[in-house]
Amino acid sequence: MTTLRFSGPVLSEAGEEQRDLYVVDGRITFEPQPGAETVATGWIVPGLVDAHNHLGLEDGGAISEEETLAQALADRDSGALLLRDCGSPTDTRWVQDREDLPRLIRAGRHLARTRRYIRNFAHEVEPDQLAAYASQEARHGDGWVKLVGDWISRDTGDLEPSFPVETFAAAIDAAHAEGAKVTAHCFGRDVLQGLLDAGIDCLEHGTGLSVDQVEQMARQGVALVPTVQQTGKFPEFAAAGREKFPAYAATMDSLAAHRREALMSAHEAGVALFVGSDGGGTGRHGYLWEEARAMHEMGIPAVDVLAAATWRGREWLGFAGLEEGAEADLVVLDRDPRADLSALAEPTCVVLRGQVVVGPG
Ligand SMILES: [Zn+2]
Repeated sequence: MTTLRFSGPVLSEAGEEQRDLYVVDGRITFEPQPGAETVATGWIVPGLVDAHNHLGLEDGGAISEEETLAQALADRDSGALLLRDCGSPTDTRWVQDREDLPRLIRAGRHLARTRRYIRNFAHEVEPDQLAAYASQEARHGDGWVKLVGDWISRDTGDLEPSFPVETFAAAIDAAHAEGAKVTAHCFGRDVLQGLLDAGIDCLEHGTGLSVDQVEQMARQGVALVPTVQQTGKFPEFAAAGREKFPAYAATMDSLAAHRREALMSAHEAGVALFVGSDGGGTGRHGYLWEEARAMHEMGIPAVDVLAAATWRGREWLGFAGLEEGAEADLVVLDRDPRADLSALAEPTCVVLRGQVVVGPG
C-alpha cells in the first residue's frame, strides 16, 4: 500500500487552507500519515470538469477507438478528470471500464431535426419521433439527453428552432420519465422560452438569452455551459453564410454582439455556469484551460471560473471534491489559479482515482 502526500494551499468553495492531503488506497484523507512520500507541493484543486465535450466525435462524425483513446488521454493529462459528453455517435461505454481514463458521463447521441445539423453527428428525426428517441437516448446514456435546439433552416435561410415547442416539451417529459436530464444546443433567441417553460435542465451556448430568461434559469436551477470559444466563432459562421443565407448571417452577427451581455447577465442572475471545451465538437481535447481563460476574459471572475471548472462542476454532476474519504481526483498547480488561470494549462501533478498520471519531474 502506498501512501501519497500532497501539500499546499487546498482550494475549495470556502477559500484556501494550508494543509497536507494524503491519498491512502486511492482515497483522500487529511489524517496525518507518518512515512508518507511527498509527491508534490503547490495549489491543490479537485480534478477539472469539462462540462461539454465529445468523445468519439470529430469533424466527420464517429472516430475509431484508438482515436477516442487519444482524446481521453489528452483530457486526462491536462487535468480534466470528469467529462460530460454532450453527444457522440460512438458507443464510448468502454471508456468507463478503464481506470486510467477520466470519469465520463454520456448523453447518448445528439437528437436533431432531419438535415438540420452537422452531417454524421446526430440521430436526425422528425417531430413525431423526437420523444421516442429522447427515451431511447436516456436509456443509452448516463443521465443526460442532448437536443439540438436550433440550427439553420434552408427553408427560411435563418437560424430556427429545430422543433415546435410542444415537440420539445414532449421530449423533455419523455427523458425525465426515464430519470434523465435534458440539455440543448441553443445559439439563437427563439428556441429558448419554450425549452425553459418545458423544464429543461441545462442550456449549451445560450447566446440569445435575455435578462428575463436568465432570471427564470436561476429560479428553476437551469445550468448554462456557455462554450465561449465556440460562440466566439459566430463572426466566422456569419461570414461563411453571408452570400447564400444573409438572414442567417445577420442573426449570427447580432448574437455575436449580444453574447457577452447574455453571459454576464446569467452570471449576475446567479445562474450556475460550467466550463465546456467542446472538444471533439468545434474544439480540441486537452484544452479546457483555454475555455476557462476565455470565460474570464468575457468578465467572469477567475475564482468563479475555477469553481465552475472544479468543485462546483463535480458537485453538479454528483461527484465529491477534496473531502475526507472521497476518491482522489486532484490536480496540483505551481501557482494560484485564482490569480492566474493559466496555471491550469500546466498542472505539476494529476492524480486520477488515487494514481499519479502526470507526475512532477
Ligand atoms: Zn458540442
